[in-house]
Amino acid sequence: MAKQQQVTVLGATGSIGQSTLDIIARHSDDFRLYAVTAFQQIQGLADICQRFSPRYAVVPSSDKAAQLKQYLAVDSLTEVLVGADALKQVSAAAEVDVVMAAIVGAAGLAPTLAAVHAGKRVLLANKEALVMSGELFIRAAQQSGAELLPVDSEHNAIFQCLPETAQKQVGSADLTEHGIDKILLTGSGGPFRQLPINDLYHQTPDSACKHPNWSMGRKISVDSATMLNKGLEYIEARWLFNCQQQQLEVIVHPQSVIHSMVQYRDGSVIAQLGEPDMRTPIAHCLGYPERIRSGVKGLDFSQLGQLTFEAPDFQRYPSLQLAIDCCWAGQAATTALNAANEVAVAEFLAERIAFGQIANVCDHVLQHISLHPCTELEQVLAVDEDSRRRANQRVRELA
Ligand code: NAD
Ligand code: MG
Repeated sequence: MAKQQQVTVLGATGSIGQSTLDIIARHSDDFRLYAVTAFQQIQGLADICQRFSPRYAVVPSSDKAAQLKQYLAVDSLTEVLVGADALKQVSAAAEVDVVMAAIVGAAGLAPTLAAVHAGKRVLLANKEALVMSGELFIRAAQQSGAELLPVDSEHNAIFQCLPETAQKQVGSADLTEHGIDKILLTGSGGPFRQLPINDLYHQTPDSACKHPNWSMGRKISVDSATMLNKGLEYIEARWLFNCQQQQLEVIVHPQSVIHSMVQYRDGSVIAQLGEPDMRTPIAHCLGYPERIRSGVKGLDFSQLGQLTFEAPDFQRYPSLQLAIDCCWAGQAATTALNAANEVAVAEFLAERIAFGQIANVCDHVLQHISLHPCTELEQVLAVDEDSRRRANQRVRELA
């Protein structure tokens, strides 16, 4: 790589954050950590600071800042910053080349957008940001010239299967002009794919978080169990690849070996395959357009066994259908869905609602929200807030 890249990792203590640091450590000549952020795991953040000496570490409150400073060595070179503005500052700073957006949920929107507005190379893991604000997010990237690279394994796979000219126009490439008929978004079906449908309702947080193929944060793990994760990814794909409804399809592929596919006009289908390890898409984005080592071994086809495929069962995964419907109903619907789901999943993880009630909370919010246009950030944030309020209300009714 020509010049050492300065990298900010938003959500450095999380699952994606840790995998990103793993790649950076393998290529310390090419990448230097500029800033890291964390919300709760302050000891973990201190360990990262000791190991990588980033210039800044951002925490949410002055209590956490005091705690972090206690853990840091007296001669630490890392300056501790506090709060939401600091998150934006380390995303947009002139010295920064690359921002890994790996905060989970709506909390990631503002700093990710700050990186987009500043025209950075943005490695997008935080799918909720795009689901909340797709249209204005893509518009902002086009205006600033920010380079969006998808980290989500499916979207990274799709990106890799696109012609180079389309890769250069994330968010605006015309699929038909590139000879593409359809994008095939694959998903494993999560841990409950084969459970008797009547047993779904009372599944516990721990069983929902036991994903058969991937190790991930708890929120996305629950989303995988409901398959709302695939629904959020469907919306994410719509924005990143500028899809029409007939150009986007979900296929269940339980082994998670194929990470998604692109079907061309002439009958060719191009797929990206690999081990289910997020270091592959992260390394792809960090190195792009070069290929760099990720520590992930290549597939051993003699050991793979069968690859199977099936259509999604919308009775088992009602949230997936809901997300697909929201995708084509407009921005307010997907913003509301994302907000309602974040509340419902947090309440489920805290064992205040049942697994089977997550979809009910989302559905209820969507039926009660007014779907006015959302072309400005303030409108998006207002829908988000209103939806959270209604979702919390619904949780209280269900209790
Ligand atoms: P995680 O829960 O492991 O980590 C989340 C990170 O965000 C942590 O560093 C945490 O400190 C930070 N954070 C949480 N709440 C915050 C708040 N309110 N303000 C600021 N920071 C906050 O999550 P993850 O699995 O690493 O996922 C991160 C994002 O990447 C999510 O949007 C997820 O959908 C997406 N993603 C994850 C995977 C995966 O394999 N883990 C795959 C694809 C996409
Ligand atoms: Mg994914």
